[in-house]
Amino acid sequence: MADVTEHELIVVGGGPGGYAAAFLAADKGMTATLVDEADRLGGTCLRIGCIPSKALLHTAKLITDARDSARFGVQFGEPKIDVAGVRKHWLKVVETLSGGLATLAKKRNVKVIKARARFADGQTLELSDGSRHRFKHCILATGSVPARPGPLKLESPRVMTSTEALQLEGVPGSLVVVGGGYIGLELGYVYAALGCPVTVVEMTPGLLPGVDRDLVKPLHDRLNGLFKRISLNTQVTKLEEDRKGIRVHLEGAEVEEASPVFDRVLVAVGRRPNSQGLGLENTRVQIDGKGFVQVNEQRRTAEEKIFAIGDVAGEPMLAHKATYEGKVAVEAILGEPAVMDNRAVPAVVFTDPEIAWAGLTETEAKKAGREVEVTRYPWAASGRAESLGRTEGLTKLIVEPETEQVLGVGIVGVDAGEMIGEAMLAIEMGASARDLSLTMHAHPTLSETILGAAEVLHGTATDLYRPKKKR
Ligand SMILES: Cc1cc2nc3c(=O)[nH]c(=O)nc-3n(C[C@H](O)[C@H](O)[C@H](O)COP(=O)(O)OP(=O)(O)OC[C@H]3O[C@@H](n4cnc5c(N)ncnc54)[C@H](O)[C@@H]3O)c2cc1C
Repeated sequence: MADVTEHELIVVGGGPGGYAAAFLAADKGMTATLVDEADRLGGTCLRIGCIPSKALLHTAKLITDARDSARFGVQFGEPKIDVAGVRKHWLKVVETLSGGLATLAKKRNVKVIKARARFADGQTLELSDGSRHRFKHCILATGSVPARPGPLKLESPRVMTSTEALQLEGVPGSLVVVGGGYIGLELGYVYAALGCPVTVVEMTPGLLPGVDRDLVKPLHDRLNGLFKRISLNTQVTKLEEDRKGIRVHLEGAEVEEASPVFDRVLVAVGRRPNSQGLGLENTRVQIDGKGFVQVNEQRRTAEEKIFAIGDVAGEPMLAHKATYEGKVAVEAILGEPAVMDNRAVPAVVFTDPEIAWAGLTETEAKKAGREVEVTRYPWAASGRAESLGRTEGLTKLIVEPETEQVLGVGIVGVDAGEMIGEAMLAIEMGASARDLSLTMHAHPTLSETILGAAEVLHGTATDLYRPKKKR
């Protein structure tokens, strides 16, 4: 049997949860080792998720903005798309950032091992290189993988998950995106901008299930112009290889053609936690019915020495939530009084327009029967939005009726993702709508719509006549 190496902290998984945890541990004086089976650091987010998709979305927005430019008095010809060049841009971005992470790990003396890890017991990891490692503490940050439910399981180079879709092998003759969630819409937007006819099939009655409908509508309207078709209330029951592509069998009240053929299929129906094959059965770590590792408010599992963070430890599966949890876990290991006491987790859909929200949504408040006041500021009243020709946006606040404390913020419009930072600060600091309306915002900016929404609550919005509602 191989010798056992002793460690103070081993982090399994080098994504935004894992590397943030290892780096903080090192900054605080611990000796940290990071194990990842991938060639480079960064995890799903950097290698095959957030960053490549945003690099592609930037290219896509350049194309759609250029197509839209005639109304601003500037005309460009039809874009000549060099797919290899588009791919090269995102690969370069990933290379730069992952190189940066490797340098940061080195500077902090975080040892990085490229191997697959598996628990032999509650204090020992076996790596695929045959080495054995005993730890005082371990943070599990193995992330998630794309879900492929039964009817969508066809093995074919024409059937892609987000991982293959990001590789951008070419512009398909046609693409069906199965799933109207954020990953499907972002990648669908990219392919449509590149000139591919895109169809989106969504099982529920609306795109982006769970998101407030008034935020989704402006995006849905714009995507209607960009996509060939959006089929709601429609289920894919089977995928079949066909001479000309993939035959997609559809079921649902709105189905016009029961089994159309597409050149390519993108399956984007969610992700599942990566908790299998880790030897967790050799530990006391508990897993729930969906495969998420069970953790407490410090992200400690039922096995005292093992913590779990990020996608593998529960929803929402977002990079910044993984990073935050990684920091809490490290502080907990060091005996600091850290817990997950954040009031909100921001979420952004990086389409055009973007949708961003933080804290309580109107949908959640309704579902919980919670009384809230909702105040809306349409971007038609924003000078900045008007000058950009993008007045379809909306900013809304969800406030506690008595204290006017801001409980949630929802925004749809260009750059909504950049604006949600202010909303997060307001929620975390327990700010009231009055605090927001008393905070001077630069003019003309889209962020003024946050101030405006707060003023609407009091019937005093300068650029909008909305007399105060009588309670
Ligand atoms: C297309 C796409 C777009 C996305 N866009 C966004 C976005 O815009 N914003 C956002 O917040 N989130 C986005 N996400 C989600 C985001 O990528 C994840 O929430 C985030 O990466 C989770 O971080 P993590 O640290 O938990 O795990 P991951 O980033 O998944 O990293 C896990 C790492 O663990 C390694 N690993 C797994 N098992 C083992 C093992 N047994 N041994 C060794 N190593 C192992 C893997 O190689 C991987 O590197 C996107 C995801 C996708 C797919």
